[in-house]
Amino acid sequence: MQAVGVIGAGQMGAGIAQVSAAAGYRVILSDVDQARAEAGKAGIARRLARDVEKGKIDADARDRLLERIEAVGDVAAMAPCGLVIEAATEREEIKRAIFATVGPVLGADAVLASNTSSIPITRLAQAAPDAARFIGVHFFNPVPVMGLIEVIRGLATADATVATVETYAAALGKQVVRANDAPGFIVNRVLMPMLNEACFALGEGVATIRDIDLACQLGLNHPMGPLTLADFIGLDTCLEITRVLFEGTGDPKFRPAPLLVKYVEAGWYGRKSGRGFYDYAGAEPVPTR
Ligand code: NAD
Repeated sequence: MQAVGVIGAGQMGAGIAQVSAAAGYRVILSDVDQARAEAGKAGIARRLARDVEKGKIDADARDRLLERIEAVGDVAAMAPCGLVIEAATEREEIKRAIFATVGPVLGADAVLASNTSSIPITRLAQAAPDAARFIGVHFFNPVPVMGLIEVIRGLATADATVATVETYAAALGKQVVRANDAPGFIVNRVLMPMLNEACFALGEGVATIRDIDLACQLGLNHPMGPLTLADFIGLDTCLEITRVLFEGTGDPKFRPAPLLVKYVEAGWYGRKSGRGFYDYAGAEPVPTR
């Protein structure tokens, strides 16, 4: 493939740019302006510097990887890209505006993909220049660590478009799962009801935070308990995705737990706000109930 374009140089976009460059692709990375795109690239350089210190990558390979990433101020520079991945803020109007701007720049065979966690691909495709060449590629956070990509085809996505992103995913060394365009795709469809149920259990007084987490960790052999994981993801994000499942399916089994809603209303978003189910002020997280 020619170059890979990445639109949005935040947490996910920078990660996608990094793994694409590590796989040998030339990467064009944009954000709202040149400074934000450069900041995204600087973040990649900082993470790679730590990897060099740990001996995970040598300094030469790091330098070559960074040389393959070009930070740009706007999407006009994406013309040489065979694949453009949009990883901007999770707001539909932002994504629609991006597709309208990048559409006319793309070549006739170029594929446009979105890393959206929750917006239906078939609906987003309506704003893309060609629905047949539009697809969902859902990476996981942190991108360099997580080995999975969910590939989501919209109703009009062509087989050739699926093939393009699967070839790309293989070059990155990531496993692909194919999901239909249904709310939450696979991972969030299965995970969010579990996290939400843990919130119900806590709210109903079934057990303490410590005991719910320890029960799932040791009883299910999960690496961390559901309330710890919800704090890590962000309770606002968990609520948002649970609402997408509830509204997208109309099924009451997905209704958000009242306690989760209350925590989000209190601004207790988890790790990122310093308090969620745990308090993160000290050296170790402390359960709050
Ligand atoms: P983020 O806030 O870290 O980054 C979003 C970036 O988009 C910011 O740098 C912002 O400046 C930029 N942006 C906003 N409007 C833009 C525009 N018009 N043009 C170009 N760039 C623009 O968010 P994130 O966590 O990286 O999420 C990005 C996307 O990835 C979202 O769709 C999200 O749902 C999805 N996603 C996130 C995760 C996760 O765990 N964070 C996992 C999978 C998918």
